[in-house]
Amino acid sequence: MEEIRVHGVTKRFGDVTALNQVSLEIARGELFFLLGGSGCGKTTLLRCIAGLETPTEGRVFFGERDVTELPTHKREAAMVFQSYALWPHMTVGQNIAFGLEERKVDKKEIKRRVEEALAMVKLEGFAKRGIDQMSGGQQQRVSLARALVVRPKCLLLDEPLSNLDAQLRLEMRSEIRRIVKENNLTGVYVTHDQAEALSMADRMAVMDAGEIVQVGPPEVIYRQPVSSYVAGFIGETNLIKGTAREGTQVEAPIGIFTATSGVEGYQPAHGAPVVLSIRPEAIAIVNPAGAVLTGKIIDRIYLGSIIQYSVELGDGSVMQVTEQNPQIIRSPGEALVGLNVNVGDVTLLEH
Ligand code: ATP
Repeated sequence: MEEIRVHGVTKRFGDVTALNQVSLEIARGELFFLLGGSGCGKTTLLRCIAGLETPTEGRVFFGERDVTELPTHKREAAMVFQSYALWPHMTVGQNIAFGLEERKVDKKEIKRRVEEALAMVKLEGFAKRGIDQMSGGQQQRVSLARALVVRPKCLLLDEPLSNLDAQLRLEMRSEIRRIVKENNLTGVYVTHDQAEALSMADRMAVMDAGEIVQVGPPEVIYRQPVSSYVAGFIGETNLIKGTAREGTQVEAPIGIFTATSGVEGYQPAHGAPVVLSIRPEAIAIVNPAGAVLTGKIIDRIYLGSIIQYSVELGDGSVMQVTEQNPQIIRSPGEALVGLNVNVGDVTLLEH
């Protein structure tokens, strides 16, 4: 278990700047996620941490050690890939033992540690099986065991669940978190999947164009995103353009809102253009008399546990509204519905 510090890391590939002055601190024993759109630099940052890529500028520290120039195995870090990267012609045990054989570990010790690693991923007794006789989910467990067998201090995971079906992904989420916590590892995990990140992360960084735009625990990233990019990337949201007024008041075409910002001390100038974010589940459909907003339902999607409505407001804009455990199914039509939002659920974004 080791703290990871990335200090002013820039990585250029020819004309492409994949990372631009990235700084980040990941605490000991933390499961930290890197998120962001395609090409934003997540994998490059993970590879710089792993030692598979050398930064053009900046340093990487594991604890007090400057590891910027060290190869992966000397960093005491192990990587798990989306593709599993297993050798198909070898058995499960041989795949897991490979890293230890390279390190010239004693044969008996190898056997003991392979069994220990298999137990960690709940595959006791599978050492003699061929890789091609294992299911996708089991193969991913083998690749985790292969990473764990060298007793790393840091576990680096690059979209490890992308090739699994939905049910297995759900199961493996809690498995990977358990493994990281039980073994006191510092974990860095790259994913496109926001549900994976929200459900597993201690903290996460959202990246855009080679830079980190926000770092925080899942509930802060979700509830107090700093920008429209972050708000739109994690979950669905309604973005409303408006103008800053006194204090935390924002005037939008659909009304005046009191908003809270995720950025400490952020106070836009009076009259400055701003954006508000209101999550669909933060809006309640109520009687139109006395409601904050009124509109007409123009579409609905029933999903059993929730129902999603599209509600057109007086200015022609459309709000997405979701109701949990819907008791009534409202039909699109001419009747006015009211919409209410709590003050704490209106987030003021920087842009
Ligand atoms: P994705 O989610 O699509 O995997 P990502 O966020 O992981 O994307 P990176 O793979 O880190 O993004 O790539 C960041 C940028 O750096 C992209 O523009 C990519 O084309 C470029 N890049 C990455 N690796 C190389 C390389 N070896 N040579 C040239 N350009 C590269």
